[in-house]
Amino acid sequence: SVQLGNGKSALFWTCNWIESSTLHREFPTLFQHSRRKNRTVEDALTEDKWVRDLRHGNTAEIALEFLQMWRKIQGAGIVLSSEEDKISWVAGRGGGSYSARAAYNIQTNEVSSSGIKAACWKAWAPGTVKIFAWLLLKDRLWCNDRLQRRGWPNGYFCTCCNRNLESSTHLFWDCPFARSVWQTASSRVVCAALKEKREASHSSLRHWERLTALTPQSCRKGFRTMLLLITWELWKERNACVFRGKMPQTEDVQRAIRGTLELWRLAGARCLQPPFGEDVAR
Ligand SMILES: [Zn+2]
Repeated sequence: SVQLGNGKSALFWTCNWIESSTLHREFPTLFQHSRRKNRTVEDALTEDKWVRDLRHGNTAEIALEFLQMWRKIQGAGIVLSSEEDKISWVAGRGGGSYSARAAYNIQTNEVSSSGIKAACWKAWAPGTVKIFAWLLLKDRLWCNDRLQRRGWPNGYFCTCCNRNLESSTHLFWDCPFARSVWQTASSRVVCAALKEKREASHSSLRHWERLTALTPQSCRKGFRTMLLLITWELWKERNACVFRGKMPQTEDVQRAIRGTLELWRLAGARCLQPPFGEDVAR
């Protein structure tokens, strides 16, 4: 927050110098409309330059916000002094001084409360697989829909079914190829929830959480690990098809899942110890 002195450091639109909010948050349309967004408080208030910055284009649609902001600034009765502005850090504990921890917490709050922490970081898996899952749950994998949005080279269709645009929700949950893999995996011990279809409005994360919620509490770590394992193997199959011209085969994915499951068990994944995840169909 800024304690206003001469107004030469505080930025008019983006600093917290008037009451407890910033003008660009409170009056977003005006901020968008303004020609100069980086004036200091002193500069903007001198001869009401901030008003001049708004005097162009269609002013009818900003009239109401303008009036409100005008009243707010008049009502605050700002008087600039000769002292310098005092800028202090208000977030977190630490009595007004900046700390990297508080800054980090502010920026990552959204992430930690979103469920990704439990969904991917708390499962048992090698780091590479967790990072892959993190990208999947944030919808940041380079599937064709994303490549297309950027105008980058892409094959448009899902290589596993050749029918739909490849998005990550299609590739991992809706594609008949993936559905078949999930269906087979759902016959494993305590993995029955894997056969549930994704609801159209659900993101990968919502779907992931829903499946986990259908699984008994005591087996959830193992269940999350299975989700990581199977999505990872689907992704590797997809990459083999896209980059190395492989033919997609659900049997290959099943075999890879069995192999990796054994490796992870050997590597110390206690949450995967039998009977959890045993393939009763075999
Ligand atoms: Zn497909």
